[in-house]
Order: sequence, then C-alpha cells, then structure tokens
Amino acid sequence: MMADKGTLYIVSAPSGAGKTSLVAALVEKVPRLRISVSHTTRTMRPGEEDGVNYHFTDRDSFVRQVEQGRFLEHAEVFGNLYGTSADWVKQTLNGGEDVILEIDWQGATQIRKQLPDAVSIFILPPSLDILAQRLRGRETDDDAVIQHRLDGAQDEMSHFAEFDYLIVNDDFQRALYELGAIVEARRLDTPRQQARLASTLEDLLRDRRH
Ligand code: 5GP
Repeated sequence: MMADKGTLYIVSAPSGAGKTSLVAALVEKVPRLRISVSHTTRTMRPGEEDGVNYHFTDRDSFVRQVEQGRFLEHAEVFGNLYGTSADWVKQTLNGGEDVILEIDWQGATQIRKQLPDAVSIFILPPSLDILAQRLRGRETDDDAVIQHRLDGAQDEMSHFAEFDYLIVNDDFQRALYELGAIVEARRLDTPRQQARLASTLEDLLRDRRH
C-alpha cells in the first residue's frame, strides 16, 4: 500500500474483553480514524441501530453480496454471518484515513492475506475468572450459556499469536493509551513521515555539500 494511503487496523478479542468500548473511545480521541460498520445476519440487540452498530441484513441478501464480491472478508461466528464492506474500506483508505475492523480471527486471517500491511491487535481480558465475571455480568444467564460463551472466548483467544500486538484490558485507560500508542507509532514510521514531510526533508538537506 502507498505511504499516503490510510492504515488498516484489525482489532480482535473474545467477547467480554471490552473491545467495542475501547475502539469507540479510541476513535473519539484520534483524528482520521474510522470504524468499519460490518454487515451481519444476526438479530438486532436492544439499543443497537441499523447502519450504526451493524448493517443488519438477511441470509439471502448476505449470500448474494458474498457472490458479488462485496466483502473484503466474511465469516460465520456463533451461527451468524458477518462481513466487511470492501468498497467502504478501500474508499476510506484511499482518502488517506485509517480504518479499524472489529472482526474475529477468521476475518483477520483473510485480511492479512490480501493486505499484508494491515496492523492486527488482539485484546485479552486479564484472567479467565474476570472474563467469566464479565460474561456473567451481562445478563442473568444460566451456567450452560456462560460456559458456552467461555468456550467460544477460549477458541478466539487461542489465535492470539497470529496478531502483531497484544493488549491486556485490565485497566481501561491504560489499554486505551496502549491502543493509541500503536496507531501513533505507525503514523510516525519513516515511509509515512517521508511522504508527509517531503518539503521539510528537502529543506533540511538543501545545499548539502558532501
Ligand atoms: P457480536 O454479534 O457480539 O457483535 O459479534 C460477534 C463476533 O463477530 C465478534 O467476535 C466480532 O468481532 C465478530 N465480527 C463482527 N463483525 C465482523 C465482520 O465483519 N467480520 C468478521 N469476520 N467478524 C466480525
């Protein structure tokens, strides 16, 4: 990818790690960083809004969009289909803005193959006990439901080593700072700075004699 194009970030985590809140707080404080709104076949949860949290769709139209090549990646997670809009991501990156995908490990694998420059981050909970507490805290579910969620969370976490960065979400502000640090470091790398600082660099090296 060209240096003046945006960077694609992949953020994955087991459910209960606090990924969505962290990413929402990150885009609040970092300019030129946008979250991709995924398409999904799952039913809307209370408080969710179509076009904001997800583009909610039915299975038939999802499958049609897969056939039309509309998704950069797509995967089935807990029995529902999820996909990332290829057009939106490409347009946003081409416009020079950075994009965050909140997707599962299967989607992350597909993205890395197509866009090796993507930066992938995995968010971990501080311990299994705390994860169980967080999953339990959501609703008053029975033990079998909680166990099922924990199993799914451990499946997701078993892929941690495929990611470029690992962040433990123990203290929210600390984890937020660390996420921001990854984005800032990437923005300061030499190819990107060289594009941004072209005239400054030219000036600094002007009239160099040897
Ligand atoms: P939820 O339904 O709880 O919002 O999300 C369930 C899981 O689906 C999470 O692990 C989330 O990261 C993943 N997910 C959400 N959108 C996408 C997507 O567009 N692609 C993929 N591969 N996974 C997604």
